[in-house]
Amino acid sequence: MAKRIFLSSPHMSEEGYEMEYIQEAFDTNWIAPLGANVNEFEKELANYVGIEHGAALVSGTAAIHLALKAAGVSEGDIVFCQSLTFSATANPIIYEKAIPVFIDSDYETWNMDPKVLEEAFHKYPEVKAVIVVHLYGLSANMDNIVKLCKYHNVTLIEDAAESLGTTYKGQHTGTFGDYGIFSFNGNKIITTSGGGMLVSKDQEKIEKARFWATQSREKERHYEHKEIGYNYRMSNIVAGIGRGQLKVLDQRVAKKRYIFEYYKRELEGLKGINFMPINEWNEPNCWLTCMTVGLSESHSERTIYHPESPSSHPEERSDEGSYSYPYPSPLDIMTALEKENIESRPIWKPMHMQPVFEKYDYIGENVGQTLFENGVCLPSDTKMTDEDLDRVCRIVKGLWG
Ligand SMILES: *Cc1c(COP(=O)(O)O)cnc(C)c1O
Repeated sequence: MAKRIFLSSPHMSEEGYEMEYIQEAFDTNWIAPLGANVNEFEKELANYVGIEHGAALVSGTAAIHLALKAAGVSEGDIVFCQSLTFSATANPIIYEKAIPVFIDSDYETWNMDPKVLEEAFHKYPEVKAVIVVHLYGLSANMDNIVKLCKYHNVTLIEDAAESLGTTYKGQHTGTFGDYGIFSFNGNKIITTSGGGMLVSKDQEKIEKARFWATQSREKERHYEHKEIGYNYRMSNIVAGIGRGQLKVLDQRVAKKRYIFEYYKRELEGLKGINFMPINEWNEPNCWLTCMTVGLSESHSERTIYHPESPSSHPEERSDEGSYSYPYPSPLDIMTALEKENIESRPIWKPMHMQPVFEKYDYIGENVGQTLFENGVCLPSDTKMTDEDLDRVCRIVKGLWG
């Protein structure tokens, strides 16, 4: 069997920076709790993205949860949430017994459509917070989204879990809203094995988040609690990995962008293929390279790969081969790659299509659904060689004959 190629797997520094910081923690016996690596990782990451404060946490999901709490979201409150995303964006809304309203994406950015957001503000003027996502390292249309949230005086949370290192008009994603969150999960552009960060300009709120994250323990000699707390703080060992990874982040971004350019150069000529949109105001980290199949460039025409049930993903087709399409389908691509031990994925399945979120309102025109049904994420592992990239391209080209 040929060597496995991953979508995006952990990539520690060749220099061994991570182990140096871990060793330091061992040498000082600062394994837990907290310690120098946590404090420094918070400062270094905040400094990298250009924001004042950060709180290192156990996951990006925990960071979203505490951002919602900091925004004052509680039972029965409405939160606008980008529909096209990973479930971790939306789950914390439910932890707080709040009510998500899912907002569609636009083709220009693949992220929250400001026009749909505006419509949502008219429908739900009482909304408490907005969560925008920067998928695959593409940035959302921040000027318009920030303007709308400011006008309506609503807290803006940026889920930048996939976009660390991405800039919009020269400014890092995660620093436009009231709160930004990052993830260091195993498949992200840098990883701590698991972890997250909440960032903000608001020192008081970040201190409050650290307080909630350490069981809401009051500053008393004895254990005194006036609020419900969480065990959400990042460990000093994990933060050591993060400090080491931060040193190679720019290298990782450069490699991810190289991977994107490589695929684009090799595959863009195939009929029916279009790559994810990179706008002139966006310097993306290209966390994953994604493309669509069977969508015309203006998106006015589209191949529906399963005519009888347009909402079912090709992955769920049971009647393999009974239809003929103008181009190979996303499923054809994923199947051909898997046969060669290469990992690929569909685009995220929108939240409003998920059984668990079905009962909540959705505003939009099914752009997210179309991207899901016609999209593919290509393997974008930073350890890939040119040979690996060529292997993937040859398999895809082979399907076009
Ligand atoms: C990975 C991810 C998260 C969650 O981060 P964890 O650290 O895994 O909890 C949230 N949102 C998006 C868009 C993600 O891709």
